[in-house]
Parts: sequence; structure tokens; C-alpha cells
Amino acid sequence: MPELPEVETVIRILNKKVKGLTIENVKITYPNLVKTDISISDFENKVKGRKIDNISRIAKHIIFELQEIVLISHLRMEGKWFVYDKGDVYDPKHVEAIFELSNNKMLIYNDTRKFGTLHLQDKNDFKNQNPIAKVGPEPFDNSINGQYLMDVMSKSNKHIKTVLLDQTKISGIGNIYADEILFDSKIHPEKRASSLSLKDFENILDSSKKILKKSIDLGGSTIDSYQPEQGIDGKFQNELKVHLRKAKPCFECGKIIEKIKVNGRGTYFCSQCQNLY
Ligand SMILES: [Zn+2]
Repeated sequence: MPELPEVETVIRILNKKVKGLTIENVKITYPNLVKTDISISDFENKVKGRKIDNISRIAKHIIFELQEIVLISHLRMEGKWFVYDKGDVYDPKHVEAIFELSNNKMLIYNDTRKFGTLHLQDKNDFKNQNPIAKVGPEPFDNSINGQYLMDVMSKSNKHIKTVLLDQTKISGIGNIYADEILFDSKIHPEKRASSLSLKDFENILDSSKKILKKSIDLGGSTIDSYQPEQGIDGKFQNELKVHLRKAKPCFECGKIIEKIKVNGRGTYFCSQCQNLY
């Protein structure tokens, strides 16, 4: 599942390839993709003829800025945006939306798992509407600090790993980076959020910024099928310290990395570096 660094990488590439182009035609081939309460033909008509001013991101949501409206895309498990030249041959099997663009380009949304979503909103109001309204600040937001995390998280008796994945409290962190962040801040994933100190929350925020930034610099992590561009892998998967390293020695202390389930999510940690007590 793409997390913040992967989505940031995707929007940087989309801006290079399609920013400034005009959407000449739209075909939604999987109507369930569109989550706004509007008919598919109305959706297509509203989008057609608009220029792509910019592509930005709020946490893991991709925002296509189309003059007065925005399209908000969430990739969920396996969603991907591909750019082709018109006339290129592509596999139509998992294609859910086709945008014909000026400059002889095509922008195609592909989703093998069909969990991805697309919302159409007014540009001047979308931050107050579903799905963005509920999204918490991301680690890079200058308005938050360790005290903010303590305020929103320490009332919870859930495991800290589970709370870190709650996108309404802090956004952009998913299963891969939650494991890496907790290892970096030396906190056991099954510690109760209510038991952590202010220093712990400050460490979590520092580690979040450090790890997410490094991953963005490396084009994200290619695990499962994420690719920043067709045929090109991210490189942060080579930097992972605990995630997917079950039974391998810890880089810090040599103890064997363990894998457990936390709230149903596969979770990797070092029981020596990340003490539960
Ligand atoms: Zn260790």
C-alpha cells in the first residue's frame, strides 16, 4: 500500500508529465471508482475540457487541481496512475478511468484490487468535505509537535502502532513506516499509547520526519507492486531496518527481528531495542 513517500513520489512524476495539459475526454470504465454522489455522465462532463493546473497531495490523497474543481484520488492497496502516449498499447484489464489529454497524452487509472477512490469537489471547499475533512496533520506540518501527538494520542489505551495508523490523528503513516518509526524511536509497537512520555512522542515525530523524508528522497519503497513509474522501482526498501526482516539479526544489537500481529497488521520489531517495559 502506498504511504506518504510513495504518494509524494507519484505526484512529483505526474506533475512532470501532465501538469498544464487539458483533459479533452474522460471515460470512467469502473463506476464504483467515483465516490461523489453524481452520475458518471455528469462526472465526465464536469471534468472534460479542464486544464490540470497542478497535482498536489494531502497526506495520502492525490489532489488533481482542475481550475474550479479538484479530483481527489486515494490509491488504497494497488491503485496506480499511468501516463501513455495516445496509441500506446496497454493492458485494459484493470483500467478504471481513462483521461485523454492534450499533447497526445493519456492518463490512466489502474487498480487490480479495486479499493481506490475518486472524489470530485469544489476547489475552494474541498478541505471541509469528505474525505479530506477528517485527515489529521502530517508529520511535516509545522503546526504540530510532540505535545500535539501526546494530546491526541495519549488518551488512547490502544497499542501505539495502531494509533500511529489512525489517519485522523496523524496522517501519511502506514504499516511499513510505522514499524520503521517505532524501531527508530526505540518504542515497542505494543506499548499502550497512554503509557508513553512526552519525550517518546517527540522521538516518534522526529523519527517520522527523518524516515519519511529519506524515503521520499529515494523514490519510496517498492514492496508488492508499487512503482513510482512504470518499470522503475523505489529504493527505500533497501533501507528498511525491521519491516520484512523477520528472523534476521537487528542492525543495532544483533538480536533476531520478530514478527507479530498488532490489530491484525503484520508488525516487525526488535525486542531488545524496543523494550515493552
Ligand atoms: Zn535490536
